[in-house]
Amino acid sequence: MRILMWFRTDLRLHDHAPLQAALELKAEVVPAYCFDPRQFGHTSFGFPKTGAFRGKFLHESVQDLRVSLQELGSDLLILQGEPEVVLPQLAQDLRCNAVYYHQEATPEEIQVETALTQALDTLGLSAREFWGHTLHNPEDIPFAIADLPELFTQFRKRVEAASTIYPPLPAPHSLPPLPKAALDLAEEGPTLQDLGLETSIPDPRAQWICKGGETAGKHRLQTYIWERDRLRVYKQTRNGMLNPDDSSKLSPWLALGCLSPRYIHAEVQRYEAARVQNDSTYWLIFELLWRDYFRWICKKHGTRIFRVSGLRGLKLPWSQNREVFEHWQWGQTGYPLVDASMRELSSTGFMSNRGRQNVASFLTKNLGINWQMGAEWFESQLVDYDPCSNWGNWNYTAGVGNDARGFRFFNITKQAKDYDPQGEYVKHWLPELANIPSPKVHTPWQLLPVEQTRFGLELGKTYPLPMVDLWKSAKAQEQVYEKACNSQGV
Ligand SMILES: Cc1cc2nc3c(=O)[nH]c(=O)nc-3n(C[C@H](O)[C@H](O)[C@H](O)COP(=O)(O)OP(=O)(O)OC[C@H]3O[C@@H](n4cnc5c(N)ncnc54)[C@H](O)[C@@H]3O)c2cc1C
Repeated sequence: MRILMWFRTDLRLHDHAPLQAALELKAEVVPAYCFDPRQFGHTSFGFPKTGAFRGKFLHESVQDLRVSLQELGSDLLILQGEPEVVLPQLAQDLRCNAVYYHQEATPEEIQVETALTQALDTLGLSAREFWGHTLHNPEDIPFAIADLPELFTQFRKRVEAASTIYPPLPAPHSLPPLPKAALDLAEEGPTLQDLGLETSIPDPRAQWICKGGETAGKHRLQTYIWERDRLRVYKQTRNGMLNPDDSSKLSPWLALGCLSPRYIHAEVQRYEAARVQNDSTYWLIFELLWRDYFRWICKKHGTRIFRVSGLRGLKLPWSQNREVFEHWQWGQTGYPLVDASMRELSSTGFMSNRGRQNVASFLTKNLGINWQMGAEWFESQLVDYDPCSNWGNWNYTAGVGNDARGFRFFNITKQAKDYDPQGEYVKHWLPELANIPSPKVHTPWQLLPVEQTRFGLELGKTYPLPMVDLWKSAKAQEQVYEKACNSQGV
C-alpha cells in the first residue's frame, strides 16, 4: 500500500489523523504539499490574495514541515499547480493507491476536493478525507451540522455539556523512507519570488514577528503559557493591543494548522494541573470554541457567509466608493484607533482582536462601505487569515450574521479611551501624534490651533480631520439598516 499524503492547512506532524491512519496500515507514505497558483492571484476587489507577510509565513511553514519529515526519515515533495490536476498525476506516476488529506469547510477548498476525488476515481485511485481542524470531531458534537445552533452561546453551551475533546494524536517517532521513484522529486520547491510574492519588509515598529512552522508554533505556545506564565492572566489582558503577550498570538499557526487546537487544549489542561485553573485558562478554550464555531457555520451554510447579504440574507445598499475605502485601508480616517490599527495591519500582517472589531465596525457602520471589501483586504493582509474566522467575524460586525442584537456599532473614541488609556498604542503607530498628551490623543480634532502648534501637528495636513462624524454617520447607517430589515422582514 502506498499513500500520497496531501498536506494543506495542516502543516504539522502532531495530531495528524491522515498520517496516523497511513502508519497504522504500515503503508509507504509520500508526503506532498502543493502551492496552488489560485492562492497567489487577486481577490474580486483586486487585492493580492496572499499578501507578503502571510506568503512568507506559509513558505516558512512548508520548509519547516520538510525539515521535520526529513528528520524522521522521510521528505516532502513540494509542487506547484492546481492540486486536483497535479496530485492525481503524481499519484499515478508514483503508483500510489490512495490520497489522504484533511478536509476543509469552505466552498473553494471543497470544490478542489471534489475535483480531486473525481480525477482520482477516473484513474482507479481512491481518496480518503479526515476532519482535523477543530476541538471536537463532527461525530462528537450533540447535533447534526444541519441543526447547528445559529447563535454561538447556544452552540457553546451544548458542546460544553455534551462533548468530549480528545487528546491530540502523538507525532510519529519515525517514518518510512520515500519510495525510490519519489526521491528525485524531493526538492526545495518554489521561492517566494517564483510564487510571485513580494518580499515582506519587517517594520521596525513591529512588536512581534512570527516565524512559520510547527516548530515555531510550539515554541510560541511554550513561551506564552509556561515561560512567561501569561495564560494565568489571559482573560484580563487579551484586549490589549500593543504588548505581544497581551493575547496568545497563536492564530497564525492555527490558521495553517502548524498547531492543532487539541494540542493547545491539552497544554492548557496540563497547565491547569500544574499551576492554576481559573477563568483565564477557561477563556482561551472559550475563544478556540469561537474559532470552531465559524468552521461549523461554514460547513453548514456553504457559500452564504461569503455573499454580500451574509448569513442573514439581508440586502443593504452598501457603497463601494474606492476613495473612502482607501482612507480606511491605509489608516487615514482621522480616528487614531482606526488609523493605528490599519497601519499596523499593512506594516506587519497583524492586528489585535479589539482593533479588528473597531475597524470593521467603522468601515461598515460609519462609512457604509461594502463589508466584503474589508473582508478581502483582511484576507490579503492578515498573517493569520482563516476563511471561516475572517468571513464569519465580518458577517457579525457588518450586521449580516445571525446575530439577534440588531444594529450595533463601536463607539471608537470610547473604545480607544478604554483599551488604550495612555494612548501608547496609537502613538506607537502614528508618530505624528506622539507629542499630544494622553488625555487628548484620541480626539485630535478637538485641539485648538495653539495646541496643534505646541504638539507639532497641523490638522488636515500632517494628520487628517475625521472623515465623518461618528454619531451622525452611525445614526444614518442605522436608519438604512432598520429600513432594510423592515422591508425584507428579517
Ligand atoms: C473582522 C474580524 C476578522 C477576523 N479575521 C480572523 C482571521 O482571518 N483569522 C483568525 O484566526 N482570526 C480572525 N479574527 C478573530 C481574532 O481577531 C483573532 O483570532 C485574534 O485576534 C488572533 O490573536 P490571538 O491568537 O492572540 O488571539 P487570542 O485572543 O489569544 O485567542 C486564541 C485563539 O482563539 C481564536 N479566536 C479568538 N477570537 C476569535 C474570534 N473572534 N473568532 C474566531 N476565532 C477566534 C483564534 O484562533 C486565536 O488564536 C477576526 C476577528 C474580526 C473581528
